[in-house]
Amino acid sequence: MKIGVYPGTFDPITNGHIDIIKRAYQLFDKLYIVVPNNIGKNALFTTEERIKLIKAVLIDYPDIEIASTDKLTVEFAKSVNATAMIRGLRMVSDFDYELQLATINKQLDSSIETVFIMSSHEYSFLSSSSVKEIAKFKRDVSLFVPDVVNEALKEKYK
Ligand code: ADP
Repeated sequence: MKIGVYPGTFDPITNGHIDIIKRAYQLFDKLYIVVPNNIGKNALFTTEERIKLIKAVLIDYPDIEIASTDKLTVEFAKSVNATAMIRGLRMVSDFDYELQLATINKQLDSSIETVFIMSSHEYSFLSSSSVKEIAKFKRDVSLFVPDVVNEALKEKYK
């Protein structure tokens, strides 16, 4: 059984993330989405809120596990017997950071591969931060996020 883990901040989950999740779902027998608790980033949504939004968005995929973790993501992956961590690649600008992360993770645990899925062209310029920036100015982001996330953003910035 091939188990994959897609780690990310998901602050909040966007249509770009969802595209990667649906494509990864085809590649693995079991998929975990994991939100690290120890993230140094200043998140708009709490970990619980982000998990709740991911769960709401993936309601039709009850077999996808959604969790938070206090562990390093590579340790989380090991603990659920995953063989791969999934990351999305948008533009060249993602490459440096993702290569660094994948190399470090490989050193931490050589049994876990990082698998990159290239962003679909319509989402290649989409990021959680740009969505937040637009929503902050009360502009519509319904093209970029599911309704439930759109509503949550409106609530945050009202
Ligand atoms: P992190 O802080 O771990 O980078 P993010 O939620 O920003 O968390 O992203 C998680 C993963 O999803 C990263 O690999 C990122 O490159 C990828 N990703 C984010 N947005 C998109 C998108 N629009 N298309 C494809 N991959 C994406």
